[in-house]
Amino acid sequence: EKLAVTARVAPLDSGRLVLVLVEDRTESRRIDAVRRDFVANVSHELKTPVGALSLLAEAVVGASDDPDAVRHFARSMHREAGRLADLVQELIDLSRLQGHDPLAAATPVDVDEVVVEAIDRCSLAAGAKGIVVVSGGQDGLQVIGDEGQLVMAVRNLVDNAISYSPPHTRVAVGVRRLDGLVEISVTDQGIGIPEGDLERIFERFYRVDPARSRETGGTGLGLSIVKHIAQNHGGEVVVWSVEGSGSTFTVRLPRAPGSGEEALDDGFDD
Ligand code: ADP
Repeated sequence: EKLAVTARVAPLDSGRLVLVLVEDRTESRRIDAVRRDFVANVSHELKTPVGALSLLAEAVVGASDDPDAVRHFARSMHREAGRLADLVQELIDLSRLQGHDPLAAATPVDVDEVVVEAIDRCSLAAGAKGIVVVSGGQDGLQVIGDEGQLVMAVRNLVDNAISYSPPHTRVAVGVRRLDGLVEISVTDQGIGIPEGDLERIFERFYRVDPARSRETGGTGLGLSIVKHIAQNHGGEVVVWSVEGSGSTFTVRLPRAPGSGEEALDDGFDD
């Protein structure tokens, strides 16, 4: 817990000096408030699928002599249970990422491999919408970090690009070297983000359109996870978006010394 303590020396009537320590609780109050907000948000987010499950269970009981209806409600229960599991998993991920030593397993990581793995894990979702995910950029770039976390970050960005795009559009993942940095960018031709929301989308549970995001199965935690991963690696994530035409999310990470210093090749090879 962060506490600001200021010290000052004050004279007593007796002529002796006393050291007065003044504790400033503003920072600790702020942290308390953030924690309370988080717990309130989590409770609210958990209530939604739990409430839906409870109603669906009642519906199953009520429809017990109609097998088609029972099947329909059971499928909905399965979906809601999946949503609950995703939410819990993302909360666990987030708390690990904010944990004591989130980069304990840091090694040199090939950025190409991170991108390939992340795209691979999104292939089902992309296929279902007829979205083509292409990748390209400079080979051989490395960062020092946790490969699992980096895959999770890029995967979240590609997942979002797919979720918030119309069918049969393209998502492009590019890798390039920028001085001492590596940039991984994910560009979509999707719905874009209104300017007024850009600042807030990295907050936990913030959604531009809660109804739409529920429909796509989002938890509202994805971008917050990406931000923590970027920060854990000494980097950042930025967004550029035009409402109605698409978005680009870029993760910038410190480049591993010496990696990718041979040839410069910025072409997409899709
Ligand atoms: P969610 O689980 O709702 O997708 P995220 O934290 O991943 O949560 O994203 C927060 C919000 O930012 C989303 O609800 C959506 O409104 C917006 N968003 C994220 N990525 C994109 C994108 N590629 N295109 C348009 N909007 C996006």
